Amino acid sequence: MKIGVLALQGAFREHILKLQALGVDAREIRLPTQLDDLDALIIPGGESTTMGKLAVAFGLLEPLRAFTRERPTWGTCAGLILLADRAVKQKQGGQPLIGGLDITVDRNYFGRQVDSFEVDLDVPALAETARPEDPDGPFHAIFIRAPAVVETGPDVQVIARLPEDGPIVAVRQGHLLGAAFHPELSDDLRFHRYFASMAAG
Ligand code: GLN
Repeated sequence: MKIGVLALQGAFREHILKLQALGVDAREIRLPTQLDDLDALIIPGGESTTMGKLAVAFGLLEPLRAFTRERPTWGTCAGLILLADRAVKQKQGGQPLIGGLDITVDRNYFGRQVDSFEVDLDVPALAETARPEDPDGPFHAIFIRAPAVVETGPDVQVIARLPEDGPIVAVRQGHLLGAAFHPELSDDLRFHRYFASMAAG
């Protein structure tokens, strides 16, 4: 199985390492033609406005839209923003989004004061694909200037919320997965395993 990681900017290397730890053929993607033979794609965290501008400059925006319409794609943090159909607090003119997830994201939901934080998340879906060697219980999630999902369409499944019925921080809609945090920075392979199983169909 071949999974690409969009490598224009941001935390792509950490995703590659996680995929390699699962025995997946992981590739850095910078050109439209590199999308052709992929089974699935990860859009990493970083800066969504920068990544969006680079995607436009590299002629990747339409190829990415075509890819994500059909093949499994996972957006983490800035990648979740890019996969959203709608973002609030867009500056004038907005920012280019790939879209696909019927959600509205708030790009800097937690504000400037809370730059980053870590929290144990209850993610029941991960049990579907976990292996005996995986950790048990909550997923230790790292949030860095994180977005949150503030609206979901009818076909969107909520995968995780912050504790005490807090904001939605992970969603799935068919072949599309989104997480507001950075699973590639946690010492836990369960999220990548979950996505690899989506990629395997
Ligand atoms: N808030 C950032 C953005 O708008 C995302 C931060 C991240 O990916 N760690 O792109």
